[in-house]
Amino acid sequence: MKTVFIDRDGVINEEVKYLHKIQDFKFIDGALSSCKYLQSKGFHLILVTNQSGIGRGYYKMKDFNILNEWMLSKFDKQDINILDVFYCPHIPEDNCCCRKPKTGMFDEANKKYQIDKNNSWMIGDKESDIKAAHDFGIRNTILVESGHKIEKTKSKAKFILPSIREVNNYIL
Ligand SMILES: [Mg+2]
Ligand SMILES: [Zn+2]
Repeated sequence: MKTVFIDRDGVINEEVKYLHKIQDFKFIDGALSSCKYLQSKGFHLILVTNQSGIGRGYYKMKDFNILNEWMLSKFDKQDINILDVFYCPHIPEDNCCCRKPKTGMFDEANKKYQIDKNNSWMIGDKESDIKAAHDFGIRNTILVESGHKIEKTKSKAKFILPSIREVNNYIL
């Protein structure tokens, strides 16, 4: 299936270090409407998010799940279906295979849903999001400037956009 993989922090919601509270979650302008647009174009939407705050002990899986359910209810209210949310709870030293730039979360999604890599996209705010998508086999990548500071000249992303708000001009 054709899918848009979307990083969460800095793309869907404003980047907050180790975000885990509903009160700190703020949707980025246009995030919901862009997701709705992508859905209308026949894309499935899957979130892939590194959550090392769990492995570092800053918050628990339960906190992540509570925030996740709340976020999904907000999507749901707009009739947006997020097909799945994959998260990596590990820290870099764990050397897991799911923490982006590794492809584990994408591989897992592929096992579950059979991703049409040629017609799928990745939207992220870090070069590690882009690398993970590339290594998985997705060449259509968008780096957004709404989250972490990016180095435009070093990016391998296909497009660099101010935010997810502009994707409707690129993902057709
Ligand atoms: Mg991010
Ligand atoms: Zn992991």
